[in-house]
Amino acid sequence: SIPLSFFAGIGGASRRGILVKGANILENLSKVKTVLFDKTGTLTLGVFEVTAMHDKEDHDNNDEEEKARLLEIAAIAECASSHPISKSLQRAYNRPIDHSRVSDIKEIGGQGITAVVDGQKVAVGNEKLMEQMGVQYCHCHTAGTIVHVAVEGKYAGHVVLGDVVKQHAAEAVKALGAVGVARTVVLTGDADAVARQTAETLGVGEVYTELLPNEKVEKVEAIISETKNGKVAFIGDGINDAPVLSRADIGIAMGGVGSDAAIEAADVVLMDDDPRKIAKAMRISNKCMNIVW
Ligand code: ADP
Ligand code: MG
Repeated sequence: SIPLSFFAGIGGASRRGILVKGANILENLSKVKTVLFDKTGTLTLGVFEVTAMHDKEDHDNNDEEEKARLLEIAAIAECASSHPISKSLQRAYNRPIDHSRVSDIKEIGGQGITAVVDGQKVAVGNEKLMEQMGVQYCHCHTAGTIVHVAVEGKYAGHVVLGDVVKQHAAEAVKALGAVGVARTVVLTGDADAVARQTAETLGVGEVYTELLPNEKVEKVEAIISETKNGKVAFIGDGINDAPVLSRADIGIAMGGVGSDAAIEAADVVLMDDDPRKIAKAMRISNKCMNIVW
């Protein structure tokens, strides 16, 4: 039978906006020694600022009309996506979208979107997508997440999105050390430079970048098999990482921004996306285990 204190623990957690899906999960939370983070939407706001729009030669494009056209194409192509990049493009565009202008939308996890906009074939995404489409893109060194745009197989330019670290993310990482977490890792589909900078800012020890969704799963499996002590938790927003949430010993989903699939796949759901809740959940679990044993 399940000890009474587990019900108290699960109840106490839920009052703090932490949904723990069962007594065994509450027990496992106290054994977590390794925490893997998704980046966009989890450690960073996933609400980007459009910092610049460049033309093909990577010069600041001062032709306002062409800039506006680039943003419009990207926003229209992305109109059906729930990815944080899409949301920030919609926000930057800030106009209602006529859905009859777009068709054949295909979202490619970890890469971007292809669609037909105003009768033209459009690709919006990262370098991998451009390579896949055989598009010559600019290898720009601007700080931030670069969203490339190609029209009819020709490079049209890019939008630079500045990823913003969540207010309490550094505190959240530090709090994990205090509850006995020995290893922290960022797993991300984003570019190396921007991800390393985020990890360094937050004091996360390891970073694996430019991972496709299936490569994230493989990385999690490798980390689980090399971990001798304790459980491995993964925390993500569920956009492109629902399979990882179910593969980890404990999958923790950000409930506020996460998809239904993520909430389903997760063992723990944080209702308000505050990453400090991870350590909080572990503290509740520890307390509970002390009462039981
Ligand atoms: P993370 O692992 O940081 O949460 P994702 O796996 O969701 O990131 O995406 C990885 C990368 O793939 C993004 O940084 C972006 O370059 C590209 N990408 C994914 N989805 C989209 C999209 N809808 N539009 C544009 N780019 C995208
Ligand atoms: Mg993400």
